[in-house]
Order: sequence, then structure tokens, then C-alpha cells
Amino acid sequence: MNDAPESPGPSIDAVPTRYGDTTFRSRLEADWAATLDNYDIQWQYEPETITLDSGALYIPDFWLPELGTWIEVKGPGVPRTEKAKELAQARACRCEVNCVCRWPGGEFLLIGRPSLASDRTEIGHRPRSGYANWETPFGPSTYFVKCPGCTRAQWTTLGRPWRCRTCRASLEKEQLHRPVDRFVRFINSASSVGSLFAMPDLGEPFTAAELGLDEEADDNFFHAGF
Ligand SMILES: [Zn+2]
Ligand SMILES: [Zn+2]
Repeated sequence: MNDAPESPGPSIDAVPTRYGDTTFRSRLEADWAATLDNYDIQWQYEPETITLDSGALYIPDFWLPELGTWIEVKGPGVPRTEKAKELAQARACRCEVNCVCRWPGGEFLLIGRPSLASDRTEIGHRPRSGYANWETPFGPSTYFVKCPGCTRAQWTTLGRPWRCRTCRASLEKEQLHRPVDRFVRFINSASSVGSLFAMPDLGEPFTAAELGLDEEADDNFFHAGF
């Protein structure tokens, strides 16, 4: 989000936000860091300035050193993703048959979006900050999966080679989750600082209104009161 020439102006998220030892350029970036922490995904914030083939300088927001994955966080006010797209194309795998890249499929780039809101169809507790939302610069067909071998959470596509980006174990299709599956909780960085030994954040219980119990509650009150 630091690629100033692409930014039309400050977005609603562009407030410097501290999380852990890092000051992020936006609240959304800090929330993505907290979300990565929640899934035990190692991350580095803006570790490298990359000169693209076009000559443009680009500093992606996150590098995930165990997954060979970049994350470019994009809020609603900064929709342009040209630099991310160029980097994704430059670092993608070009192996003909068997992939011999350091990372299966080459380096991967994810666009991190603002979270999806919770809805009323979920059972139990809803996450306070909703669900993580992502895509690639080329389309939405990116999946979140936990490797059955090393248990590392990661993002992948259905393109070959379909292997864990860390241990190269084969991934299982039934474990795949899309943002719309509402599986990956998005974490509010402000509520998770110093919570290493705290109870997991289960979110807030559903209200009676959300569970469709409003009328019943009203009836009870009516009978009790009169
Ligand atoms: Zn390859
Ligand atoms: Zn693995």
C-alpha cells in the first residue's frame, strides 16, 4: 500500500497501526498480521524493495518465508493491483513437467482484502472481525488449506503442482476453503496484542435477535409482565 503513484488518496484504513513490534501503514495490514499469527504463519513486513521488469519499484506488504508467498493488502480505496500482478507473473513457475522450483509452483502472490462480515447462518460464536477475504491478481480461485503432512496453513490454487509449499506433501482437495466458505477467521489486531497465553477469542455470542428468538423473547416478556 506504499506504492504512492497508484494510490488515489488516503483510504479509510490508512491509519498507522501498531501491532506487536511493528507499525503498519494501515489497520487492515495490522489485522492481516494478527490473522497470520492466528494460523501460525510466519511473516515479514515489507522486507524487500523489488525492481520490477517494467522498472517500477515495488514493496509488497508481507513475505511469508515458510510458504514462498507474498501478500499485498488492498483496502477498498486502493483497488489497483498492477505491481502485484507484474510480480506474480515474474515469480510464477515455468517448469514444463516436473516442478523443480524452490517453492512448488514458484513464488505465489495473494491479494489480502478487508474481511467478509459475519452472517446469521453460523452455529455458535461468530468471529468479531468476520472472515478473511483474499484473491489473486488473476482471479478468485485461491484456496486456504492446512497441509496434512506438516500441518502448515497456506494458500494454494488448483494449478499444478498440487503440493504443500513447505514440505511438498500432496494436498487433499476436501480440505480446501474459499473465502466464501467462511472458514478462516479474520483477527482484529487491537484485540489480540499480548494474548499469547489468553483464552482463544471465540467472538461474541449471537444475540436473540440474530437467532430469530426476538418474537419469543417478546412473548415471554408479555406473559411475565402481565
Ligand atoms: Zn516450477
Ligand atoms: Zn506440508
